[in-house]
Amino acid sequence: MDVAVFSTKPYDRRFLDAANVAAGNRHRFTYFEARLTHATAVLAKGAAAVCPFVNDQADEAVLEEFTRIGVRLVALRSAGFNNVDLAAARRLGVTVARVPAYSPDAVAEHTVAMILSLNRAIHRAYARVREGNFALEGLLGFDLKGRAVGVVGTGRIGVAVARIMLGFGCRVLAHDLAPDPACAAMGVAYVPLKELLAESDIVTLHCPLTPQTRHMIDAATIGRMKRGAMLVNTSRGGLVDTRAAIDGLKSGAIGHLGLDVYEEEGDLFFQDLSGQVLQDDVFARLLTFPNVLVTGHQAFFTAEALTAIADTTVANITAFEQTGRAVHEVSVEKLA
Ligand code: NAD
Repeated sequence: MDVAVFSTKPYDRRFLDAANVAAGNRHRFTYFEARLTHATAVLAKGAAAVCPFVNDQADEAVLEEFTRIGVRLVALRSAGFNNVDLAAARRLGVTVARVPAYSPDAVAEHTVAMILSLNRAIHRAYARVREGNFALEGLLGFDLKGRAVGVVGTGRIGVAVARIMLGFGCRVLAHDLAPDPACAAMGVAYVPLKELLAESDIVTLHCPLTPQTRHMIDAATIGRMKRGAMLVNTSRGGLVDTRAAIDGLKSGAIGHLGLDVYEEEGDLFFQDLSGQVLQDDVFARLLTFPNVLVTGHQAFFTAEALTAIADTTVANITAFEQTGRAVHEVSVEKLA
């Protein structure tokens, strides 16, 4: 099949080409650096499938353009699918596929890296030592053993985080619309969100972005958190109302904030903007806090994950070509 790949980085090309070779060079990938928008959708002309990433927009207008130019498959190379209008895709007969579980461990391990870095101020210590400053004042952390960690969303990634934090000797609380008995059997206690927020020293978010979860962390929920608790979001930026988080940091309600994702990351992340003036004042304010650690949507970024993303994407495309169905289709019911 001819496949138009959007938001291509050199590593996407390397891993997709390798997966295609392993699958017998069945497909022809055309790589575009451009993000997928209404203006760039036409680049896919001649391709039967497109391959977007997390900040590409497959909204109704883009999907209508796809049907006009003959694109029948949107093969996301991500787990999240909040950037696709699934109702419009169904109406237009465009199949949407994703990579449901490329490496939950990659994201879980990055989450834990953020927790450890924030707690022990590794990001500050790194800069201090390089400046010849070996003072410890301001770097005081706390023992993780015995602390309560609240995991919101115990799907593939949340469960992996829970398992690691249990290994540290933490008490793990969880909240999910569909509690997982296997997770409970590990020693995780399912509680209502209100209780999780009130009791956790660390709150970590692992549910998808849906209309129900948008801004699940806002001024009201921050107000219910234990004062000075750590908040980590490696899921989707829209789960956190960033302005409310900034107010929480200013008042001390939030003691540490770790973000791998950001509501307005589309104009920033995955690009080298060094030397340019930062136009996003909310993001710029976030960077002024010593107790905030931001990474640019890199939680997924391991060799194992990129290999799995590429292999599953090629498998989705091959299955669609052969049977008219992708291996991991996403339908509008997923949002229900
Ligand atoms: P998953 O589908 O396996 O699990 C999501 C869980 O969230 C499910 O158990 C679901 O029941 C639960 N959930 C849904 N709505 C909820 C709500 N309102 N309250 C509580 N729980 C709710 O997904 P996953 O593979 O664990 O991934 C989680 C999210 O992580 C993805 O949706 C994606 O947005 C994000 N992600 C980020 C990166 C990254 O690089 N930062 C990489 C992969 C995935």
